[in-house]
Formats: sequence, C-alpha cells, structure tokens
Amino acid sequence: MPNMSLSKVRMPEQDPEVRNGNFLEVALGYTEDMAREEARRCLKCKNRPCMQGCPVNVDIPGFIGLVAEGKFEEAYKLVTETNSLPAICGRVCPQESQCERFCVRAKKGESVAIGRLERFVADWYMKNRENMPREVEKTGRKVAVIGSGPAGLTCAGDLAKMGYDVTVFEAFHIPGGVLMYGIPEFRLPKALVQKEINTLKQMGVAIRTNMVIGKVLSLDELLEEGYEAIFVGTGAGLPSFMGIPGENLNGVYSANEFLTRINLMKAYKFPECDTPVKVGRNVAVIGGGNVAMDAARSAKRLGAEKVYIVYRRSEAEMPARVEEVHHAREEGIIFKLLTNPIRILGTDDGWVKGMECYEMELGEPDSSGRRRPIPKPGSEHVIDVETVVVAIGQSPNPLIKSTTPDLKTEQWGGIIADEETGATSKEGVYAGGDTVTGAATVILAMGAGKKAAKAIDEYLKAKQR
Ligand code: SF4
Repeated sequence: MPNMSLSKVRMPEQDPEVRNGNFLEVALGYTEDMAREEARRCLKCKNRPCMQGCPVNVDIPGFIGLVAEGKFEEAYKLVTETNSLPAICGRVCPQESQCERFCVRAKKGESVAIGRLERFVADWYMKNRENMPREVEKTGRKVAVIGSGPAGLTCAGDLAKMGYDVTVFEAFHIPGGVLMYGIPEFRLPKALVQKEINTLKQMGVAIRTNMVIGKVLSLDELLEEGYEAIFVGTGAGLPSFMGIPGENLNGVYSANEFLTRINLMKAYKFPECDTPVKVGRNVAVIGGGNVAMDAARSAKRLGAEKVYIVYRRSEAEMPARVEEVHHAREEGIIFKLLTNPIRILGTDDGWVKGMECYEMELGEPDSSGRRRPIPKPGSEHVIDVETVVVAIGQSPNPLIKSTTPDLKTEQWGGIIADEETGATSKEGVYAGGDTVTGAATVILAMGAGKKAAKAIDEYLKAKQR
C-alpha cells in the first residue's frame, strides 16, 4: 500500500541555535524506517515524469521501489549505474527545480523526497558495505581530465567504467574542486566528498594534485604526453567584484576566498590549522545566491554577532534555494533586501568600518526578466560592519584560455563547447560545467561531464590510433 501522506517524512536536523555555533552537518539524514516510509509515497508512475528532471538519468522509481522493499544495497547499485556521486547529489542538488519538480505527488502536497532518499542509500552503503571495484576491460588509451570538481569527477568516473586510463589533474592540494573549497562542511561534509573520490580511485582513476594546468603543463603538452583526449572541467573560480569605492580595504573578501579559507583551509580550526579568516563583530554579505547564504552562515558560525545578507532585489528574485534561505533565517541571518551598496567605508589605517547603501524599489523588468531595482532618492544609510564578503558571482579562470590559443572562448571567459557533446574548437578537447556555462549547479556540471565522457568514447572509438 502506498503511503498517501501529503507531506515528506521530515528529516531530523540540528537545532538552529546549536548549529549556528558549529560546522557539523545541519541535516542528519533518514533512518532505515523513515526512508522506507518515504519511499512508499512513490506511485511508481509508468511514464516516470521525475526522470526528465534528472540530468544524469537516475532510475528514480526503480531505486525508490528497492528502498521501499528494504533492498538498500540494490538501490545503491542502481543509482550508481548512472550517478558516480550520489551522497553529494543527495545533499546539494536543487531537487525542487529538478526531479522533484516533475513528481506527480507535488500536484497535491509535497513531492516524494527523492534527494533525501538518494542521500540515504549512499550513506547506508558507505556505512554498511565495502566498495568493491568493478571489473572492466581496459582499452589501454589515456584521457586527461582537468579539474576534480563535479564535472571532472563524473567524466572521469564514466570513462573509467568504459575502460580508459584516466588521470585527473587538480590545481589544489586536495581533489574535489568546488565541493571542497566552495560548499561548507555543514552542508556537505568533506570526509564524505573524499570517500566518493576514493571510490573513483578504486575504479582506477589517478588523481594528480598541485597541477595547475595552463601553468605547469599546457593542453598541448598533455596531448604530446600521449593523452588522446582531454576534458576541461575547471569550474568558475574567478570572483567578480562590484567596482565600488572601498573594495580594496582590509576586511573585504570575495566569497571565493572567504569560503576557501574556511572550507579547504579549515580556518574555523585556527590555530590548529594555520590559515585564519578574520570576521569582525558585524558582517555584510553582498548577494542573494547560494554562495551568499553559505558565506553568511559560515560567518555566523565563526562568531559574528550580526550577519547581514545585502541584496538589491526582493526575496522573490533571490537565486538561492528556498531551503538555504530558510536555514539562514533560522540561524539568525538578517536579510536587508532591496538594499544596494554604494561604497565601503574605511578607518584611517585601512580597515572596513561600514558600508553605505541605498534603499531600492523595483521598476520594470530588465533583460533577465526580473524587475529592475532602482535607488530611492535620499535613502542613503550606513550599516556598521567590519567585514564585507562580495558574493555576486564568479567566472572561469582565464589560465587555460590564455595558454591555449586555438581554444575558442566567449568574451566573458567561458569556453565555447557543444551543448550535447562538450566538443570545443580544439580537436580532442572537450569541456563542460561552470567553465562553459558560468557558475551553475553541481548536477548540471555532472550532466555535462557525463555527456562529454560519452562523446570522448565515441571520438576515440572512431579515431585510429
Ligand atoms: S514522479 Fe514521483 S511518484 Fe511518480 S515515479 Fe517519480 S518519484 Fe515516484
């Protein structure tokens, strides 16, 4: 009998008043009983509408049916046929705008909690089973993957399953890309990311860290070294700034630097870890996306008293996930909506002491379809802050572009690649994820990595050695 409850089975969470003082994971995951109860909400629809919202084609009703029967190991195996990083997707995918958006149960009540169930099967398997590497027939052909974020890891995993010798080149000292430097521990535990990466290593994927491709080696040198194809998944790590006075004061961070210091360099464990991050009593985070929410919630955990999200439009236009905004509010983040910074004010010795802002009102829609914010005359006011984090977006790092003259890029820096195959203007070189689209989601990057792996396989099969 299906469970016809209109609501998802609630997932336990740390109390907001406790969790805003620690970096432990906020959501605690389903128990076996909770997972089976939620899985029984799935109606096993014949036409599988939920699957059209999954960029990596997970057999959603199939795996949920297995969870309902208590066959957790089989459910994990079914998910990982098409998704190499289920514990990560189950936590950070915006399911509400992907699979869950198409779920028929959402027509009346809440959708099936597909993401929570995916997370459950991945966590269950990690806890209860040893990973057994799959036997694959080796092709003896080498492929290089640049970047070990979600696009690169997915591409590498799929190519390894097809028998290629895959080497992933990572610029940082730890693999994982944005999963390690961008997303905070309380949303995505780093030990778990490394476990997923270890699964790939067991499949034969080699990972070379501290390899800044475009500096240490160029794409042409990799091709000369015998890599027959290359996938570039280097993400979007170049921060944007507003270009307002005072952005070079001490105490102004790009969200990228702020989060990298905290997530990758573990600033919250200073002095045990030796890269600190200075947050004052009051912090302003400029922006309304998930990165802004991550930075604000991290600042709170580092001891700031007041943390403001300063966003120039209204909540309806905020690009952050509803769940992230909700969690931020629960943790005491103050939202200053329809507010736009004019300049950052400094002390005589060059430290931030405040931020002058306009109040805004919404006018006619602009080219993005969202209503254009317009400053209200005479509404200038100062917010007292000692730290400002700029979280208004990132673009691709220009290093590979600048050392690969025959790789065509957009004016804003994105690599030009075929949407279906990831093929670029350079033969044998494919690209996907944020380096092509600009900052987007983990799952879209994974989808691009997957399509490129398939295209690379077809390219190498067609190409004579
Ligand atoms: S649409 Fe919802 S109810 Fe239907 S198969 Fe998918 S998850 Fe189950």
